[in-house]
Amino acid sequence: MTAYAQTVRPSAPQLEALTPYDPKYLPADAFLSANENPRDVDEELRRHIMRVLRDVPLNRYPDPLSNELRDLIAEANGVTRDQVLVGNGGDELLFDIALAWGGPGRTFLNMPPTFSVYDNNAQLTNTEIVSVVRDENFDIDEAAVLERVAQGDIDYVIVTSPNNPTGKLADEQFILQLLESTDALVVVDEAYFEFSRKTIRPYLERFENLLILRTFSKAFSLAGVRVGYVLGSPRVIRELIKVRQPYSVDAVSQAIAQVIYEHRALFEPGISAIIAERSRVFDELKRIAKVVPYPSDANYILFRVPQAGRVWQGLYDRGILVRDLSGAPQLEDCLRVTIGTEEQNDEFLDALRTVLADIARQQLQPPAHPSA
Ligand code: PMP
Repeated sequence: MTAYAQTVRPSAPQLEALTPYDPKYLPADAFLSANENPRDVDEELRRHIMRVLRDVPLNRYPDPLSNELRDLIAEANGVTRDQVLVGNGGDELLFDIALAWGGPGRTFLNMPPTFSVYDNNAQLTNTEIVSVVRDENFDIDEAAVLERVAQGDIDYVIVTSPNNPTGKLADEQFILQLLESTDALVVVDEAYFEFSRKTIRPYLERFENLLILRTFSKAFSLAGVRVGYVLGSPRVIRELIKVRQPYSVDAVSQAIAQVIYEHRALFEPGISAIIAERSRVFDELKRIAKVVPYPSDANYILFRVPQAGRVWQGLYDRGILVRDLSGAPQLEDCLRVTIGTEEQNDEFLDALRTVLADIARQQLQPPAHPSA
């Protein structure tokens, strides 16, 4: 390579410590690593989408605020259009939250281990991060959170319910106590709420500081399309509109999400199947020696297993991709498996039993060249 005639000066200093988000997608037979819905949108609905897409003008900018979709979401949730904002996946909205409520001189309260994007967004926006870590069962240290917000300097908090990657819901009474005790923006990330069937939405009218985040990526099989939304008070929504990219949700995504949302009842059987499979997989995992699964209200299960890296590789060698979290703080020995179809779950469980048996056998065998 030839030398550049001019080099570039360093990027903004807060980028130095950051590593780009890497979901570690690899080719596999069973994708059980990204908490996606194992069932794609069915053929009939796809045909409907194709018909609608034929009429979407491609030469025009989309409606910046996705108002038709916004109205559908508002109606379904018993709120008004000005209480809803649609984004390019929940990820975009999380970044908007950091831009609008974070920034230099401002503070975010995080409850790790949780979704790593929160921390990243705070770093990107030069927001100070206060971490109140979860206990050994991954429950929120509620007293510590309430005590910390009482100091008055927290600008926003994110409560993930159910939490990713650990799986459990946050306690509703705790969320209410938090909302009452602080005027910080309290974001309740309900990306997986369709699998827990619990939501804090009934309290939207009571708390101006409550913002609920949801996504089309999980229950509605639309991770590839990138649509998410928030429900909140008109004042919070107005502020988020100031920082967002005007055309972040393209016309094609808006049209697809509308069709999906209008037909969301069709996804119910798939959601119920995932919930049923979740308890079956949990029970099966409990029966495997050395495996400790954590109870989950979402569409994935976190479990501890000795030599998690080796187990991950063994599963991958058998075509099953799960998420290796064992390198992350507090998640030593942890893998996370997304609940797939019944068949995929069986494949995963069989492969896990085989891999663990292989590892145990290798450990029993004397080394080929015993040392003196
Ligand atoms: N919140 C949580 C807790 C998540 O796990 C995810 C997806 N990994 C998101 C938000 C964002 O999802 P998306 O951008 O696909 O809407």
